[in-house]
Amino acid sequence: MRKPVAVGMAVGRSSRMDAKVAAVKKEVKVGGDFETRGLFCAEEIAELRHRLLAWYDVNHRILPWRKNPHSKRSDRDAGPPPPEDKSDFAYCVWVSEVMLQQTRVETVKAYYTRWMEAYPTLADLAEADLERVNELWAGLGYYRRARFLLEGARHVRDKCGGRMPGEVEELHKIPGIGMYTASAIASIAFGRRAGVVDGNVIRVLSRLRALAGDPRAPANTKLHWRLSNSVVDADRPGCFNQALMELGATVCTPKAPKCGECPARAQCLALRRQEEWGADSEGGPSVTDFPEKVKKKPPRMETIRCCVLVVTSEGRGHFLLIKRPDKGLLAGLWEFPNVPVGAKTEEEGSKPPRGREELVGLLGEILEGGSLEAFTGKGAQKLKEVGSFEHVFSHIKQTTIVDVCSLQVDAKAFGTLSEMQGPRETRLVPVDSKEGVASLSTGVRKAIRLYSGLGKKASVSRKNKKKEGKAEADKSQRRLDQFFGKGARVKDEE
Ligand code: SF4
Repeated sequence: MRKPVAVGMAVGRSSRMDAKVAAVKKEVKVGGDFETRGLFCAEEIAELRHRLLAWYDVNHRILPWRKNPHSKRSDRDAGPPPPEDKSDFAYCVWVSEVMLQQTRVETVKAYYTRWMEAYPTLADLAEADLERVNELWAGLGYYRRARFLLEGARHVRDKCGGRMPGEVEELHKIPGIGMYTASAIASIAFGRRAGVVDGNVIRVLSRLRALAGDPRAPANTKLHWRLSNSVVDADRPGCFNQALMELGATVCTPKAPKCGECPARAQCLALRRQEEWGADSEGGPSVTDFPEKVKKKPPRMETIRCCVLVVTSEGRGHFLLIKRPDKGLLAGLWEFPNVPVGAKTEEEGSKPPRGREELVGLLGEILEGGSLEAFTGKGAQKLKEVGSFEHVFSHIKQTTIVDVCSLQVDAKAFGTLSEMQGPRETRLVPVDSKEGVASLSTGVRKAIRLYSGLGKKASVSRKNKKKEGKAEADKSQRRLDQFFGKGARVKDEE
């Protein structure tokens, strides 16, 4: 078994560092974990903690959720101080950590600020309704995370006396809080000595110890947790964890690590190997060989067809949306009526658009009756295809073909459509409401963008409609009767 190499250990170490090394040796008995595959020795741990924290205090980013009382940044006063109450602080850490999963820091900043304005405390969130939570989350993706935050807040309110627990094991029991989030909250908000493992930490640790193999394999996941738990600083665990993640995000990046600026270069086995081989040697080892790249399973391909149906009443247009089921992908979110579309066939060129008939059938069903002659027959041709877009979920690559059409209704029918409940719950969102549109999911907004591409023509159309004046208004009731009675009549977006 290879003994770990204490790369770059300081010669003539200071007595302060000696004391740090002695403290590390006390934490874990020498001859135990440190001597096993890939782990650090006590001297390396002491060095790593010291260097990483010193680097972090000067170089950490200023983020709305980040609090570093040891900061040496001149602009460290940016943002309010951490909440004095640890449970309140834990709530802030929780929200930020959940938002940061799968999402870039720059994107999260605005979402975090908006969220905290809406739900400044855990108690506020526990009282929230899912609809509003989803609206605030719109655009961040992975909506399950928002739902879990809400469920978690209610769990803490009902089962934990309204206060966030401080131990990893207790935090882990809260719905939606996994090991990573539990450890991040425990270390950052409560100062518990718990390491964290996320994508950035895996990359940094894999390089520091030149760890081979699939980093997501169970044995390596276990190893990363052991490594992380052994290096985390006992006095400043929260800052150390954030420093390790910050290093991965800003210095030890996937493709172009800045090893020259790295505070951990003296402890980095991957860098040592690269340097031993010689920087100009082609085909030699590189720090970017770690962690091993594992081919991802290709996403499932799906195609759907949706209809941007604009319902106009008293001169104001509204998008008609339906609610998704409460379980599964995008659970409980609003979307345009849509149907799955089969795979493309070779003869498709000469056939009617894929899924059009099914979509018309669905619209008829939503608009009541399901057997609307004009809609299912010639009316189907009134739908106008305006394009398609792709949207990637974690495991699905979805193509959405977008049709548009519009419908004039009177106030009574408008009221009916806005309140439809049951299996086909509907909602009408004003076309000109920026806030209403912004609160919709990314996929819905992409479809709206395609619809908006018709904007100029549509505004000409609206002017013409004004000229038509009363005559058009009189016609609208007749059209509605056709929709809800004998047959449906739809009008193209021009
Ligand atoms: S020396 Fe380079 S590869 Fe090693 S941890 Fe630092 S940035 Fe990453």
